[in-house]
Amino acid sequence: MGEAEFDQARPLLQVHDLAVEFRSHNGVVRAVDGISYTLSSGETLAILGESGSGKSVGAQAVMGLIDSPPGFVTRGSITFRGVELLRLSGSQYQQVRGRRIAMVFQDALSALNPVFTVGDQIAEMYRIHQQLSRAQARVRAIDMMDRVHIPSAAQRYADYPHQFSGGMRQRIMIAMALALDPDVLIADEPTTALDVTVQAQIMELLAELQRANGMGLILITHDLGVVAEVADRVAVMYAGRVVETASVGDLYARPAHPYTEGLIASIPAIGRRHRELRPIEGSPPNLARIPAGCSFHPRCPRARERCAIDDPPLYDVVAAGDRGSACHFWPEVLGDA
Ligand code: SF4
Repeated sequence: MGEAEFDQARPLLQVHDLAVEFRSHNGVVRAVDGISYTLSSGETLAILGESGSGKSVGAQAVMGLIDSPPGFVTRGSITFRGVELLRLSGSQYQQVRGRRIAMVFQDALSALNPVFTVGDQIAEMYRIHQQLSRAQARVRAIDMMDRVHIPSAAQRYADYPHQFSGGMRQRIMIAMALALDPDVLIADEPTTALDVTVQAQIMELLAELQRANGMGLILITHDLGVVAEVADRVAVMYAGRVVETASVGDLYARPAHPYTEGLIASIPAIGRRHRELRPIEGSPPNLARIPAGCSFHPRCPRARERCAIDDPPLYDVVAAGDRGSACHFWPEVLGDA
């Protein structure tokens, strides 16, 4: 697929009404059920949700990594600079993956190959995608290790993944993901396995690299604290759907969906130190048996009769600008904030 097919004037990444399901003899799991978002260059979009909300599956679909069977993209569209990715062949997708859209996974230890040195694993990106010689690829890999602040990069080139700390391994994953200077980076819970200090360092590194190359960043997380620090916009996911979209400022100041209200009330925050934390009652639904009506209704403190029958669309929250809420009663929620 030629570079000419990508139209730089078109949006960087647009996901529209994407649905992914997994089929087994036990039934159909609707992991993603119609999510939409747009990502611009230099922007950080956080996709926020509990585990099982579909946030990682949606990202894997963007990367073309849904194993089929059992997974199937059943509807929707994913366009990158105007090119529909869902229509690409396997080999065409391989050219997009890594070069245009790259991904960092939560668990660096299992994502890295234990029997190759970290330097060789980064260098391989240059050898495969840019056909560089072994010596040229080594130089580029060491440079990339420097960029992600791995001390004594040249000496550590020949070390194996198990010889690095969790934080350093995550830096190596980021180096691999950014080796080909992608336009979009998807970071799936990149700091969850790390302690708080290292988390902050990794997020700062991602922000620094984003500023340097202007890429769009999709940050998949369950951590509202991380979202507040780094994101421009947020899409909150619940049971495979986006239930609220907003700028970070709007989301925290005036949530427009009861689930977001619950998430915000359940975390400690400066200024709310003396307020009692309220965990959200109940647990997320089984995606093979999503409740009828609004999927949040069994847990929703604002639920009424209509909510168990009528499935809310993502309403435009017009009064508050560019945002949406999948709650029939969003004006009331917004009014109470
Ligand atoms: Fe709660 Fe009803 Fe709004 Fe769903 S539609 S979030 S159940 S109030």
